[in-house]
Amino acid sequence: STALVLFRRDLRLADNPAWSAACAEHAHVLPVFIHADDEACPAGSASRWWLHHALRALDRDLRDAGAALHLRRGELLDVLRELIRRSGAVAVYWNRLYEPAAISRDTQLKSALRQDGIAVHSHNAALWCEPWRIATGQGQPYKVFTPYWRKLRPELQAVAPLPAPRVPGWRELPDGLPLEALELLPRIDWAGGLRAHWQPGQAGARELLEIFADDAINDYARARDLPARHGTSRLSPHLHFGEISPRQIHFELDRRAGAIDTRRRPDLEPFLRELGWREFAHHLLFHFPYTPTENFNPRFNEFAWAADDEVAIERWQRGRTGIPLVDAGMRELWHTGWMHNRVRMIVASFLTKNLRQHWLHGARWFHDTLVDADLANNTLGWQWVAGCGADAAPYFRVFNPLTQAKKFDPDGAYLRHWLPELGDAPVALLHEPWKDAALLRRSGYPAPMVDLGQSRQQALGAYAALAR
Ligand code: FAD
Repeated sequence: STALVLFRRDLRLADNPAWSAACAEHAHVLPVFIHADDEACPAGSASRWWLHHALRALDRDLRDAGAALHLRRGELLDVLRELIRRSGAVAVYWNRLYEPAAISRDTQLKSALRQDGIAVHSHNAALWCEPWRIATGQGQPYKVFTPYWRKLRPELQAVAPLPAPRVPGWRELPDGLPLEALELLPRIDWAGGLRAHWQPGQAGARELLEIFADDAINDYARARDLPARHGTSRLSPHLHFGEISPRQIHFELDRRAGAIDTRRRPDLEPFLRELGWREFAHHLLFHFPYTPTENFNPRFNEFAWAADDEVAIERWQRGRTGIPLVDAGMRELWHTGWMHNRVRMIVASFLTKNLRQHWLHGARWFHDTLVDADLANNTLGWQWVAGCGADAAPYFRVFNPLTQAKKFDPDGAYLRHWLPELGDAPVALLHEPWKDAALLRRSGYPAPMVDLGQSRQQALGAYAALAR
């Protein structure tokens, strides 16, 4: 019999439960990617760039394994029905997606195919734990990370991932589309920085994991906060597109630690905890599906945001606010499609607190420009910083980009790299270029668009009004 395997954001062959099950249970498999024009969660520009290259890599991996990826475009159910008819497939396999729109689309798809007499098998390839499985003693979803993690952590064993299966037989169909026909790449090529920084696909993910496991993990707890260092794994886009799984990462790091004795690798635990935040984000999105566009905490519906200010937002987007750490982060994002986590918190705090622009403006920009743009993680991150989310940063926490720069980029290496016009300034001026009017004139670097102290006070006032 023939099984159709629908690849989505599980773009790997090893530790891919849907792919493994289809290969084990059928004589022929037909691996397919359908770019749905009615896409439930439309991807941003950087994600589309990534997807293009990840599909090419997956096709290469499939060809090495004796198959190839059949690419199509169109309405999902229509294309599936046509492929099933032509291939004689009796079953469809996929790995689950967890965005609210994708869940309802997949539910409809499943029932329509089952009515057609087709077996549909869905699996979990993306998470340690299905988002609905962990609950409080009262059967409620968790809203605070620490107790959630306390419940989940003991369940996580370093389980061996599934090996890439042997492909039984490949059911070839003519007239798949060439990759270019999906039109994922930008019309004007702005992606040079992305190309220089990333290798989409499971081999690229594997390579980053090796580099991380060889070195950075040993100093993760400290160095993860230093944006100038390669102190984190940079696996986020690979995790988003399912080119690597939490299980593969966990198993590999644990194997290298030699035993499950965490004392031998004290930095493993804080790293696993970050993967725990990713699980928590999916748990929240599942239980509170309105949060990508609405405040988790409805009290914030009354919050006095400043009027939308397109000019201010654009200065923030382009890294021209005059606050060096904010500008460095925004330029890193624009150039590489990624930004260091600590800097993400700082630029988000600046937008939502110092400029008092609605967090949705920031979330949308991140969605469009991040290669790791992820509805669950992005929603959690923005709502957390803005103070309106689950387990949010307390309202009086306004990151001070100057103090943060002095603490986490003390020698200014990160600033120097991303603000080349200030490159030759001494460290003290890199942190506070506004102290030297001649430097601003010479370099063309802008004066601060707001006074940090004053705008902080205004934000605190707005939050205090809410608290009353
Ligand atoms: P590592 O430190 O190596 O962590 C390993 C993995 O754990 C990451 O790849 C990621 O999958 C997960 N992780 C780490 N931190 C978090 C976190 N705070 N929340 C959820 N998962 C986490 N992450 C995204 O993947 N996509 C987003 O769209 C996104 N938007 C964000 C927006 C804001 C405002 C903030 C503050 C954070 C956002 N994050 C997002 C979380 C975090 O910044 C990135 O996951 C992290 O910087 C990725 O780098 P890394 O892979 O080197 O992380």
